[in-house]
Amino acid sequence: MEKERSAIAVIGGGPAGLMTAEILSSGGHQVTIYDRMPSLGRKLLMAGRGGLNLTHSEPFEQFMSRYGAAAPQLRPIIEGFPPSTLIEWAHGLGQETFVGSSGKIFPKAMKASPLLRAWLKRLGGQGVQVRLRHRWRGWDEEGSLLFETPHGPEHVLADATILALGGASWPRLGSDGGWAKILEQRGVEIVPLAPSNCGFAVSWSATFRNRFAGTPLKNIAIKFEGHQARGELLVTSYGIEGGAVYALSAPLRNAIARRGPVEIAIDLRPEASEGDLASKLRTPRGKNTLSNFLRKALHLSPVEINLLREAHGLAFGGDLEILSGKIKCVPVSLLAPQPIARAISSAGGVAFGSVDENLMLRALPNVYVAGEMLDWEAPTGGYLVQAVLASGAFVARAALRRFAL
Ligand SMILES: Cc1cc2nc3c(=O)[nH]c(=O)nc-3n(C[C@H](O)[C@H](O)[C@H](O)COP(=O)(O)OP(=O)(O)OC[C@H]3O[C@@H](n4cnc5c(N)ncnc54)[C@H](O)[C@@H]3O)c2cc1C
Repeated sequence: MEKERSAIAVIGGGPAGLMTAEILSSGGHQVTIYDRMPSLGRKLLMAGRGGLNLTHSEPFEQFMSRYGAAAPQLRPIIEGFPPSTLIEWAHGLGQETFVGSSGKIFPKAMKASPLLRAWLKRLGGQGVQVRLRHRWRGWDEEGSLLFETPHGPEHVLADATILALGGASWPRLGSDGGWAKILEQRGVEIVPLAPSNCGFAVSWSATFRNRFAGTPLKNIAIKFEGHQARGELLVTSYGIEGGAVYALSAPLRNAIARRGPVEIAIDLRPEASEGDLASKLRTPRGKNTLSNFLRKALHLSPVEINLLREAHGLAFGGDLEILSGKIKCVPVSLLAPQPIARAISSAGGVAFGSVDENLMLRALPNVYVAGEMLDWEAPTGGYLVQAVLASGAFVARAALRRFAL
């Protein structure tokens, strides 16, 4: 059987793999990227649909705190490729950036396609080879990488391998978590993949669901057991989505796994105190219906008024002053996280205990891991792409040191 030789095989052509390939090829190495899809960077392109949030402008310590339990492991990685380096790198690809009102950083083009196009052109110019429709299946008996291709199995001998296979959300874009079993069989500890930055199921009444599915709740806050997040929610036919609930998805998911459905409190007017609301509610109601009165006095929208009805029952009107407390605390029971296939990202993955200080697998010498397939999670806000690119750069530098030309 004829085997292809590849000095360095990067498996997975998402942002982590592409960053690794860029640095290794600029260091003079022969790099081949293998990907199971017919084109590279599909999830990055999808991320750009709603505006590609590349990173965040907040102070570094606050930035690092977003990675929760994985912050100590990610610190050296992100220190080696901090937000300022990411921004310079994007500028180098012709993508000017701007800081949005919330501190998030985006390319001026908003979309990911111009950045990806320029990036792939740069990689081509540096001699990086790309093999598409190559699904990695593990290793053969002789230790060569094994790929499933439209032309049958392919075996590749590589001096070093970088695994950058992503998590398991949006599997139709390429990353389906199929690598977890392959690595587990080789003695690598895998923390089970779970949905992160995901929506949650709510049992809405048919009336509320039919009328308000697809309607946003803007400038609200969610509270759950000492955690709080401000932002937007979207009512969906099955429950809720949106930045505010994504930000709390880790504690909510973990609590539901431990004890079943949990209750969050939605504050519909986080900027107003209960006293402010009560004084506005004291104005004479006149001949207004309750809905009209609430709309006029507090600018409550139809979805907000009906959420109050949904949560507090038909008698939610009652003493109008008591309503001020209810507006600041609308209880909603979350039944389960949405499946991982519909989440923005994944929690879990290759345990940090299974890699050394260079992100090389302890069980498999010369095999490195980068990107979302490592066991960390973070809220949306640019923290995902930042850690993904930084880890790609980190493993590339580690491999460069090991294979110094
Ligand atoms: C809707 C949406 C919006 C998002 N928006 C943002 C955002 O604005 N900002 C942000 O920071 N993050 C965002 N993200 C998350 C971000 O896109 C991901 O965290 C990032 O793409 C992960 O990069 P990665 O390189 O680790 O993995 P991926 O981008 O998933 O790339 C992995 C690659 O590996 C390939 N692969 C997988 N298995 C195999 C196999 N067996 N053989 C060969 N190839 C394989 C896949 O085809 C894929 O090309 C968003 C995600 C989604 C879904």
